Amino acid sequence: MRLSRYFLPILKENPREAEIVSHRLMLRAGMIRQQAAGSFSWLPLGKLVLDKICRIIREEQNRAGALEILMPTIQSADLWRESGRYDDYGDEMLRIKDRNKRDMLFGPTNEEMVTEIFRSYVRTYKDLPLNLYHIQWKFRDERRPRFGVMRSREFLMKDAYSFDLDFEGAKAAYNRMFVSYLRTFTRLGLKAIPMRADTGPIGGDLSHEFIILADTGESQVYCHRDFLELPVPGEDTDFTNDGEIGGIVKQWTTPYAATDEMHDEAAWDAIGEGERLSARGIEVGHIFHFGEKYSKPMGAKVTGPDGKDHFVSMGSYGIGPSRLIAAIIEASHDEAGIIWPESVAPFDIGLINMKVGDAECDRVSEELYAALTAAGKDVLYDDTDQRPGGKFATADLIGLPWQLIVGPRGVAAGEVEIKNRRTGERETLPIAEATKRFGIAG
Ligand code: ATP
Ligand code: MG
Repeated sequence: MRLSRYFLPILKENPREAEIVSHRLMLRAGMIRQQAAGSFSWLPLGKLVLDKICRIIREEQNRAGALEILMPTIQSADLWRESGRYDDYGDEMLRIKDRNKRDMLFGPTNEEMVTEIFRSYVRTYKDLPLNLYHIQWKFRDERRPRFGVMRSREFLMKDAYSFDLDFEGAKAAYNRMFVSYLRTFTRLGLKAIPMRADTGPIGGDLSHEFIILADTGESQVYCHRDFLELPVPGEDTDFTNDGEIGGIVKQWTTPYAATDEMHDEAAWDAIGEGERLSARGIEVGHIFHFGEKYSKPMGAKVTGPDGKDHFVSMGSYGIGPSRLIAAIIEASHDEAGIIWPESVAPFDIGLINMKVGDAECDRVSEELYAALTAAGKDVLYDDTDQRPGGKFATADLIGLPWQLIVGPRGVAAGEVEIKNRRTGERETLPIAEATKRFGIAG
């Protein structure tokens, strides 16, 4: 992509309304545009990152055996009356009427709708386990939308829903999502810690929030330092092996970890002073087993091996891709701007032509741009006539992992410069070596 043809509305000044660094940097880097309280448009750079995050989430959901669907944003109130939640949900639900004065709502979540789909088709335990997920916009009329896309009213959510014959099956389904989340957050360059969460009237211990440690987090969290070193399950993890998956969950739920509401002072005091980690945290995912909470009132049942009807045992599993972008920036930035993990960077390389109009700089830049693009690299080529200082500031602000710098003096010597955004390390190398450095055979 040529920057001269791109839409990257960089802000020079710090926007006053932004209280935390991720919100500030997302506005400054031209990733999002606020349209109303807690409602944002995604501009090209932001949309690229959002898509990359969704792609990783999708790959890991699929790997764990979940199946992608897509349900509407606008739902019928009648469905929510069946579960009793139409009245219970409160002011966070945006209630709407259609032209026939029928009660509708903008979905804050999808348990009712997915249960309706399930009960319409599935009759026997032989079709289980089943896990259906979608990535769809949600609306919650938050009391205090703030921090940009961290807590917005309209936000993207990946929500999965599992259906099983009994508790044993539901627990195995829960474990698969648990392990899938460990892989997902690691691939996004994040260290997310699963913490015991409140199960309310459902009871049991099958509810975990996945938390990123960050000073700007909204909740106070407590955990054992061991979490920072636990091994993350690899690509070869066998999601069909309940024993293997259960073992990983055991390992990741043994050290102490709890959010404020679940904090147990006695257990905390038993941990050595140097082993404790008490910090602020951002919730990026939440998994929850709720058994028959919806299947019973909504009549979602299957015939079991015993020939009898059983209400299915369910769980739901959420991740917020839009909040994740803010969380990633909170965890990865410096004074100059964002530092994207390679897996979610909007472009792999920022190619900077320091002197557009100089025949040699133009020629070398064009050749590098063509070669890198042909090899499948996403390159943002700064071919604008801005001054070098401005170009470097933009490149640092938008945080691409690599900068490839083409300047008149270097080119005369047959050289270009590569800068690693994370470490700040710069290296001068022969022009012909530059593409090889990005894994492209000369
Ligand atoms: P919170 O306690 O932060 O309000 P929640 O418990 O209401 O979150 P869930 O209903 O479990 O969240 O939703 C699943 C995921 O959706 C969350 O883990 C989070 O990543 C994301 N999410 C929830 N609310 C918002 C919001 N207002 N803005 C952005 N993302 C959100
Ligand atoms: Mg909430």
